[in-house]
Amino acid sequence: MTSLAKLPKTHGNGFFEVRMESIGGLGANVAGKIFAEAGVLGMGFNGVTFSSYGAEKKGTAVKTFARFCDPRQEIRIAAPVEYPHLLVIFHDRLLQTGKAVTHGVTHDTTVVVNSRHPLDQVREQVGLCGGGLGVVDAIGIAVEEKSRPNTVLLGAMTRASGFMDPEAVRKAIAGTLGHKYPKMLEGNLRAFDRGYREMQLEEYACSIKHPKEPPPRFVSPLGYENAPIGGAVVNPGNTILRDLTPSRTGYIPQFFPEDCINDGHCEYTCPDFCFTWESGVDRKGKKGMVNKGIDYRYCKGCLRCVEACPTTALRTVIEDEEYVREHTVPLLGREE
Ligand code: SF4
Ligand code: SF4
Repeated sequence: MTSLAKLPKTHGNGFFEVRMESIGGLGANVAGKIFAEAGVLGMGFNGVTFSSYGAEKKGTAVKTFARFCDPRQEIRIAAPVEYPHLLVIFHDRLLQTGKAVTHGVTHDTTVVVNSRHPLDQVREQVGLCGGGLGVVDAIGIAVEEKSRPNTVLLGAMTRASGFMDPEAVRKAIAGTLGHKYPKMLEGNLRAFDRGYREMQLEEYACSIKHPKEPPPRFVSPLGYENAPIGGAVVNPGNTILRDLTPSRTGYIPQFFPEDCINDGHCEYTCPDFCFTWESGVDRKGKKGMVNKGIDYRYCKGCLRCVEACPTTALRTVIEDEEYVREHTVPLLGREE
């Protein structure tokens, strides 16, 4: 254990607070555990971490929280972190959901974003008030090092925290991944080092353009006096306007029509009916339904279609916004 470092800042309650905004599949929950273990077992702080997520394993919103304090202080709080000192956004697509992921950012916050875009562009997307901003291409590094984006982001958040000892985090990564996946440890440690080193980090002065936003409080318009009768659907709708783009974790299925045999395995497998079909003739001149491609608006990037495809017509690639824009094939009858 290293001698006890000082927390660079705390709220009035004595805690340095961290919030991670993620999508199921990017590893925020594990990253939170590793970060907390490094702070508590490796550096001697008292600390806690917990996550909130839905029933689906992949593709839905995940929030992970961590708190650190002096070892003599008891932790009697298990509420979500509203005003984080360190906010880590595991994929810049989440910024499309607006204030849902950036609420509570103040001039005391450092925001770390997994993005391929330049700092200034990400700052606009975040709508940052004064404070720190770090940007790192976690998916790109993870692919190169055959690791996961969470270890790259652990490197970035370790540096952005201003107090976490990189050696303590490396040890916690080795303790977590070394037993389960020893062959992957080296790549993950390299990914951690690159995230630490390659993150672009800037401090911005507070400005009127990026004012402090209080966390939103949801107040239900329904109460015991006006709640509808149980089981009644009073507001019918459909999913035509939904956009699952922010659910993707950085990968998409790419469609190669020249390899497609139109057997429909992807269509049966896709939970969101993303494939567009038209009647026509296939490559052998046979009449039937022909797969025209993917409507990426409804694709959550689960990649089940790639697993199901018996040919190489569907392949996993890193998501590129321009490619998605140019290759989205709107589902018949679903055009806006
Ligand atoms: S599963 Fe593959 S080969 Fe079959 S229709 Fe879909 S893309 Fe084409
Ligand atoms: S990755 Fe494939 S199966 Fe999953 S939602 Fe997208 S198109 Fe459907």
